[in-house]
Amino acid sequence: MSSKKSQDLKSGFNRRDFLKVGALTGLFAGASGVASACSTPASNGRFQGKAKYIIFMVSDGMSHGTLQMADLMSRRQYGRASKWIELYEQRAVTRGLMDMTTGNSSVPDSAAAASSWGCGQRITNGNINMDDDGNAFEPILPIFKRNGRKTALVTSAEVTHATPAGFSANVARRGMQDEIADQYLEREFDVILGGGSRHFDAGVREDGRDLFAGFAEKGYKVARTKNELGQPNGFQRTFGVFTERHLPYQLDHDNTPDLVRDVPTLAELSKYALDTLKASGDGFIIQIEGARVDHAAHSMDAAGLIYDQIAFDEAIRVAWDFYERHADETLFVITTDHGNANPSLNAAGRGYNDSEPFFDRIQSFTYTNNWMMRGLNEDSSVADIIARFGTATSLDLTRDHARMLQQGLRGEFQAAYAMKARPMNVLGDLMSNYTSVAFTGSVHTADYVELAAAGPGSQTLGPITRNTDWFGLMLEAAGIEV
Ligand SMILES: [Zn+2]
Repeated sequence: MSSKKSQDLKSGFNRRDFLKVGALTGLFAGASGVASACSTPASNGRFQGKAKYIIFMVSDGMSHGTLQMADLMSRRQYGRASKWIELYEQRAVTRGLMDMTTGNSSVPDSAAAASSWGCGQRITNGNINMDDDGNAFEPILPIFKRNGRKTALVTSAEVTHATPAGFSANVARRGMQDEIADQYLEREFDVILGGGSRHFDAGVREDGRDLFAGFAEKGYKVARTKNELGQPNGFQRTFGVFTERHLPYQLDHDNTPDLVRDVPTLAELSKYALDTLKASGDGFIIQIEGARVDHAAHSMDAAGLIYDQIAFDEAIRVAWDFYERHADETLFVITTDHGNANPSLNAAGRGYNDSEPFFDRIQSFTYTNNWMMRGLNEDSSVADIIARFGTATSLDLTRDHARMLQQGLRGEFQAAYAMKARPMNVLGDLMSNYTSVAFTGSVHTADYVELAAAGPGSQTLGPITRNTDWFGLMLEAAGIEV
């Protein structure tokens, strides 16, 4: 990156960028071609300004099979449908597909995907609300803020990760997370909750800047544990990060007493954010992300994936509860930014009759594949591997399978599809023999994604929506003109 560009980034938005943003968004709104070219008809004022509240929920990297398996597990283990599928059964939401193509690929990354919603532009994978020439597009959270609305980001990833940043920040590359943290402090979003203390911590940041002190000086409640977060008491600007990096996988969280004590769940964070925002009396926009669904899919980790999708579903319950109390003035959206690894429950046994018994074994798992791999390395013996697998799953790994994983750990495993030779993926594929959940790979996919919406603006949705439509739709629903 040129020094000129990095100069612009350090100072955040400069005037030139704002003018450019104005021109571009003017083009966007004026032409109405972008917003309506694909599938979203003009509102004719039917919902304009009707959405005082916007709740935009993203299960990151959720393939269709993930949605189905979380529902199936929820029914089999807890005796009830997932909330997402229940909303379909009750016809409480409009459902469709969304085309998440980015500026350079039909396979999106989370940065360009979230930016397509955040600024209405299809940009290059890896960028956050910026084109390749360094032109910045003003994202939706700052726009809402200067129009008097409250703003919030809630995620189970680092708060500076691509999906929340796509609604709020401008950087050339998603990895510039310290710069994103600087922008959060400068732009003063009202509620920021998730993981990733390392980007705010003077002891860890390269520039030694203490952003925790920065938020405290600006009058924020600053929380590092569940206890410090407490309950909202009226409206209070809140900055809470509860882990150094991402929040833990839900399954590991549930079986680790320290994490249960100190780290809130995504549903708890969502409830806190919605309650405090509501207490302000102002309108708001909130993005809620279940981030670790994506990470579990990258790891071909069925248990990690299903229980994080269920944790996201718990956050949907919280948000839907808010929606039901304010249905006339809330635009409610649940979606994902791309498929990932496309897992499914596959047929098992004679006549396909054993799939559910295989699937039900996951209910006895206490830790994720990621947890398992943290205790193994190239020196692990077959006995070590069998013991570690047994601790996490209560299942007996065969010696043949343990030997394959040992080869994987030593970099000696051969796979026909090269990415499946990665040790984590060897474990993921081996696990398929026990659970009948199998993955096509361990990377993002080009699938049209699931989309559900309710409230003012959702009536316009057709069977397929273009990702960039959402920027204009949210502004129009909130009655904000750019
Ligand atoms: Zn991903």
